[in-house]
Amino acid sequence: MSAGRAPRAPGREEAAALRAVEVLDHLEAAHPDAKCALDFGSPLELLVATILAAQAQDKHINTLTPALFRRYPTAAAWASAPPEQVREDLRPTGFFNQKAKAVQATCQALVERHGGAVPEDLDALVALPGVGRKTANVVLGNAFGHPDRVAVDTHVQRLAKLLGFTRHDDPVKIEADLAALWPAARRTRGCHLLQFHGRRVCVARRPRCDACPVAPLCPSAHSPPPGKKAAGKKAAGKKAPSRKSAG
Ligand code: SF4
Repeated sequence: MSAGRAPRAPGREEAAALRAVEVLDHLEAAHPDAKCALDFGSPLELLVATILAAQAQDKHINTLTPALFRRYPTAAAWASAPPEQVREDLRPTGFFNQKAKAVQATCQALVERHGGAVPEDLDALVALPGVGRKTANVVLGNAFGHPDRVAVDTHVQRLAKLLGFTRHDDPVKIEADLAALWPAARRTRGCHLLQFHGRRVCVARRPRCDACPVAPLCPSAHSPPPGKKAAGKKAAGKKAPSRKSAG
């Protein structure tokens, strides 16, 4: 009987993907309640809520959208409303002038190009005025239930870097890096997990590495956040007094 071959060690890319999945498993156990932070009942509601959530807290937008969605239940209702009325209704969301314009332009395009429906297609979504790739992926991943969408918001961008999943700052490149590491069935979920972890544990100003379930897998564990690191380097760069001059 011949001796069996020793198991092959995983290559670099394979090892990175295995680590990424292990991180997802730990985050899943830590944040089983992770979900889309915006409340919605249809693709149109999520599309509008995502536009309204720009430069605002999701929680705050969730307090406003039930009444807004009752008043404007369809794309046609948003598109045909008097602009001054929409501006007034969106005032509490902040930056209401731009948001009113964006929501009405998007809904107008939905009426003209898609019969008032939200298209279930990335290219058609990003072709809508005011809809970027992140918003399109949020809608596809959450309202249409596509599990393979990577929506890169500030939490996903920051944590993907800290966790060593990407070296890029460009959201499109980060999306591609995460898509290469995560199984297609877990990408939308992976974004929710990074978002919740970024809010609860790996907070921007002071990541709580001591309480972090993925610290053993994180290349940034117990390092100062990037801003503080730069300040630290600057201080470290100051010429130390030589033994001679120190006397
Ligand atoms: S170990 Fe620290 S830096 Fe890494 S993900 Fe956890 S909290 Fe963030």
